[in-house]
Amino acid sequence: MLKRNTSSLSFEVFPPKTSTAFESVRQATKKIATLRPSFISVTYGAGGGTSDYTLDLAKRIKELYGVPSLAHLTCVSSTRETVRERINAIIAAGIQNVMALRGDIPEHMKGSDRSNWDYHYAVELVHELKNSGYDFCIGAACYPEIHPESSTQKEDIRYLKEKVDAGCDFLTTQMFFDNNLLYNFLYKIREAGITVPVIPGIMPITNANQVERAIMLSGSFMPQRFKSLVDRFGSDPDAMKQAGIAYATDQIIDLYANGLTNVHVYSMNKPDVAKKIQSNLSDILGK
Ligand code: FAD
Repeated sequence: MLKRNTSSLSFEVFPPKTSTAFESVRQATKKIATLRPSFISVTYGAGGGTSDYTLDLAKRIKELYGVPSLAHLTCVSSTRETVRERINAIIAAGIQNVMALRGDIPEHMKGSDRSNWDYHYAVELVHELKNSGYDFCIGAACYPEIHPESSTQKEDIRYLKEKVDAGCDFLTTQMFFDNNLLYNFLYKIREAGITVPVIPGIMPITNANQVERAIMLSGSFMPQRFKSLVDRFGSDPDAMKQAGIAYATDQIIDLYANGLTNVHVYSMNKPDVAKKIQSNLSDILGK
């Protein structure tokens, strides 16, 4: 799925929660696909409620729009039976690229007896995909700034190694706003013997409200340079959008310059943002 030795971009869409919103997400996805990214990933709703939409979008991206798709799948809030059904549906849809995730632990499961859970960690889903007998290209998540549940980076990387050894073909990172954190992380995982390709995940922050949400969800460190930008332009939507896109573009150029070839943009169903970033990089990408 991944291109080697050439700079490339991939984008992400998320499925709607309701059928009424599906058409607009479909249109947004179609527009993003016209940019011919290296792939488009489709997230998976935590409770499983949007799972049919994930598959529908992933199938469309591949079959109708002619772009490789990557379907996300989570496991912690599902039974083994449901996950196996999902895997069979993915196989039936002809989707080969799957992002194997644990998912966040839902409130109602926190404090419940973990021995009753069918899945505890993403590594178990990686095993399940491997045991399906289908030739999946399996991705998994990694966290340059540590997963919030891990007490140390060393521990986080030890479990990451187990997950990769179970059969991951590549890793995609949580969003980050300071590239040095990624370079430091890459050094540590390579030292720990994790050799699969790592795709850095970049989130263009295009409005001030997104900032708090992004920090809450990811726990990412906000460099002063980024905070100043939000302070200065946060109250002017057009200026903030332009500045956020410029910041993300700058991060991506630095990543390419430092030898990373595939960069994933958390484009959040926004074709205009995806398009702008791509056109900022047109000569670098040869598009
Ligand atoms: P894991 O790899 O299982 O790790 C979770 C925690 O458990 C870590 O702290 C890890 O160190 C620890 N751990 C792992 N194995 C063990 C073990 N054997 N013993 C003890 N501790 C262990 N969520 C969605 O709901 N839908 C999505 O589509 C989605 N896409 C995402 C895409 C990316 C690129 C990223 C970075 C995150 C995504 N998420 C998504 C969020 C993700 O589900 C959460 O971050 C979740 O809390 C962890 O998922 P994981 O697959 O990284 O879990």
